Amino acid sequence: MNHPEPEYCNHCREALLDGRCTNVDCPLSPTPVVEPKPEPRDIAVIYTTIDRLRKRRKFKTLKGAQKFAHRWVGETPEMGGWYAVSGDGWGKIEVDGATLRELFPKAF
Ligand SMILES: [Zn+2]
Repeated sequence: MNHPEPEYCNHCREALLDGRCTNVDCPLSPTPVVEPKPEPRDIAVIYTTIDRLRKRRKFKTLKGAQKFAHRWVGETPEMGGWYAVSGDGWGKIEVDGATLRELFPKAF
């Protein structure tokens, strides 16, 4: 009888399975396929008005941040440097962790 010689990794000497190293820490082992998933964001949106109302909300997704911002100043506010102002000039949106361009893509 002719037993097949067990094969071992050239790198770490672990047994091979289907010709591949089974040691997950070995650089010769196949890289596990990682499903790309959207990175959770850390976005803070600050809404202030000229009568000093101030609301600050944190969001994990751009969509949530957009919804909040659009509710207060609409989808196409005026851009003023680092903030966005509603058409009537009443409210102002500032954003941390995202850009105004991301928040108001239709305004650019
Ligand atoms: Zn190995």
